[in-house]
Amino acid sequence: MKVFLTFDIEVWCNGWSALDERFPAAFDRYIFGRSAAGEFALPKTLEILNRYGLKGVFFVEPLFSARFGTEYLHTICQLIQSAGQEIQLHLHPEWTDEIRPAIFPDKPYKRQHLIHYDQAEQSRLIKLGRALLEAAAGAPISAFRAGSFAANGDTLAAVAEAGLLVDSSMNISCPLSGADLRDQRDLTAPQCYHGLQLVPISVFRDGFGKLRHAQIGACSVAELRQALQEALYRGYNIFTILSHNFEMLQSGSTEPDRWVVRRFEQLCSFLAAHRNDFPTRGFIETLTFPDTTSPLGVPRSGRLATMTRYYEQARRHLHHRVLR
Ligand SMILES: [Zn+2]
Repeated sequence: MKVFLTFDIEVWCNGWSALDERFPAAFDRYIFGRSAAGEFALPKTLEILNRYGLKGVFFVEPLFSARFGTEYLHTICQLIQSAGQEIQLHLHPEWTDEIRPAIFPDKPYKRQHLIHYDQAEQSRLIKLGRALLEAAAGAPISAFRAGSFAANGDTLAAVAEAGLLVDSSMNISCPLSGADLRDQRDLTAPQCYHGLQLVPISVFRDGFGKLRHAQIGACSVAELRQALQEALYRGYNIFTILSHNFEMLQSGSTEPDRWVVRRFEQLCSFLAAHRNDFPTRGFIETLTFPDTTSPLGVPRSGRLATMTRYYEQARRHLHHRVLR
């Protein structure tokens, strides 16, 4: 079973006013996350991965750079490439109406998700994102993930039309994701969709039966470990874990969140110790999945593993309140 350890890399300005004034500090926080303890955004993420000898895939959002300058995107690509990790394409069309000159001058308002655009518009945005990112990275891109997992059939057609080979947007724990495809397909399984290889975000049922996606900042290590082990047992051939550039930071701060840092270290340690069962991989490798899938069932984690998450969340809130 291949494990895709994926990170969505994006910058936000805490609202949409005074963007140009806010952007430099936002970029510093989201990409570097500097504090007395170290740089716990992208640099620390890369350092930890490399310390454990693991492969990560970094889905980088490029549209912001059409507003603020390609040098920022170049800085992100350099950090990832100099750590020997893989860059792929992420897209948050929230930026579309902030770019000058306007991409869609006849619709000068904000449309948050790709699914709010028709197929021709989605195609144009994905091609623009690919061109920006390939220019900054100086390397070809082959995989795509929609912002907020908000992809539909038109998105997949646009991804294929842009010449990309893999889509990793599907996440059935988010109602917006693949909403128009759910009654035709089992979107938990990797599969070939009109020539495009689909690599969904992995989901599991937690100790109380609730569907969750496998995200480092939102699951206990025990939940992730049990979901991985059960996915392997059920015969899944991939497992996709999600994180972001800012998950090891406390919300609204550049200080590290020691609970999430510890989780990430523990998960990496587990994957490194079990690299025969759970080898981490990139999308540069050729993937070929069947057109049809037989349901394997959603993996489960135990109640104690979920209780551990509740305990950690409670301690985190308490700890951060005391700090502030
Ligand atoms: Zn995103």
